[in-house]
Amino acid sequence: MSSADEFDFDVVVIGGGSAGYAAASATARGGLRTVVVEGGREVGGLCILRGCMPTKALLYAAEVKHLAGHAATWGIQVPEVRFDFAQVMARKNAMIADFAGYRRQQLESGRFKFIRANARFVSPHTVELDSGQRLTSAHFVLSTGSVVSTPPLPQLNSVGFLTSDDAMALERLPKSLIMLGGGAVAVEFAQFFARFGVRVTLLQRSGHLLRDFDPDAAQVIETVFRREGIELITGTRLLDARCEGGLKHVTFEHDEQTRTVAAEEIFHGLGRSPNTGGLALPQAGVTTDKHGRIATNTQMQTSAPHIFAAGDCTGPHEIVHVAIQQGEAAAHNILHPQSPRSLDYRLLTCVVFTDPQVACAGLSEVQARAQGREVIVASYPFADHGKSLLMEAKDGFVKLLADPRTGEILGGACVGPVGGELIHEIVAAMCKRMTAGELAAMPHYHPTLAEIWTYPAEELAARVQS
Ligand SMILES: Cc1cc2nc3c(=O)[nH]c(=O)nc-3n(C[C@H](O)[C@H](O)[C@H](O)COP(=O)(O)OP(=O)(O)OC[C@H]3O[C@@H](n4cnc5c(N)ncnc54)[C@H](O)[C@@H]3O)c2cc1C
Repeated sequence: MSSADEFDFDVVVIGGGSAGYAAASATARGGLRTVVVEGGREVGGLCILRGCMPTKALLYAAEVKHLAGHAATWGIQVPEVRFDFAQVMARKNAMIADFAGYRRQQLESGRFKFIRANARFVSPHTVELDSGQRLTSAHFVLSTGSVVSTPPLPQLNSVGFLTSDDAMALERLPKSLIMLGGGAVAVEFAQFFARFGVRVTLLQRSGHLLRDFDPDAAQVIETVFRREGIELITGTRLLDARCEGGLKHVTFEHDEQTRTVAAEEIFHGLGRSPNTGGLALPQAGVTTDKHGRIATNTQMQTSAPHIFAAGDCTGPHEIVHVAIQQGEAAAHNILHPQSPRSLDYRLLTCVVFTDPQVACAGLSEVQARAQGREVIVASYPFADHGKSLLMEAKDGFVKLLADPRTGEILGGACVGPVGGELIHEIVAAMCKRMTAGELAAMPHYHPTLAEIWTYPAEELAARVQS
């Protein structure tokens, strides 16, 4: 590591979210003089304050309410399921305050310096803080996260809309809501609102929800959503938004016709963009790609070799464990430039916390086709599996992809009960490059949801060309 005494620090980490904290912990552990500069109103980062953790707290509450409403399935009488939205939010807030408090303690633990300020570059080795103070450093890690994207229609700015950030602070539920978007955040919130009695209309541009997943996975969620009363309109093009008669109206094109839907509230769930605007990147010689993400090589090194980036500000996957891996890789490569570590997305795992959950790891069928890669595929439905039948969790399936010659598992998908947990069996199998035959032979306790993997694994093992 080329530390130079003329600098105030060996490493300045800009942004104290998941990626920044991971990077700073690792460089400090490696003995480097490290400082984290965090300029947000609150300390904790997106995952804790307004991302993974609060949304999953709310979705779990929605699932409990849903199960209570269906208790008669198991012979349990719940005369009337009622809820207190203020209490739902209060429990979520208490959990988040705890998690954020713990993260603050970690940041202030003294292992590295922690400064509350926004930082921007004034030269390749110098940043200036809000206070005017300047810090110089041999290396930097940029981990400034993301911001809600600009709304797809400028009219939405005057009409007004909710974002996932706003939804975290809602004091009352709207009666009706138009959800714009069909990605993970949009579908999770759509089901949350619908299960708490909000009339939801979801408008999605592409032909299916969750376009990053195989269409068979999306179809399950579309079926469940329609059954739960969510109005889904896919293949739309937004045209206009306006307020009229106390409601918010969205006009769009669908099936070559112009249609309008109205609701009390609009939710902009169309994604987030890298948060790089305040960094003055050109002063440091750091470039961005066409999506505005900080461009890096696989070692998380930017166009300025002493500056690294990690997390949502560089992407391409807005997933917290990936942000942490990137932060750790950046730290490793600052500490050990002679034996650099590269990010490898072979085991990329994605989970959407709807009910049923949607999870995938490794290669999908669509990706295999796009790459021209030959695979064998087998799937098995939860509607034909003992444990899920007991649970009345019959929507969805598991699917495995394997190499036709070696039988190595190349990917998996699980749409079903606790799919986000079940997919980790496939991540472990792929991590150790197991074959479908080895997975099928591995003991599985009965009756469990996990044993469902043995069915596609056995089928694929029988089809491997010997
Ligand atoms: C609603 C929602 C649900 C999600 N659910 C999941 C999920 O279930 N699972 C999952 O894996 N991912 C989920 N994500 C994504 C996940 O939260 C992010 O990928 C992850 O938190 C990104 O971490 P980060 O460190 O890159 O950024 P952040 O945690 O956003 O940290 C960036 C930090 O940089 C600070 N900062 C910005 N600019 C400056 C500056 N100039 N100077 C100083 N500080 C600055 C900010 O204040 C912020 O604290 C969700 C996201 C959303 C929005």
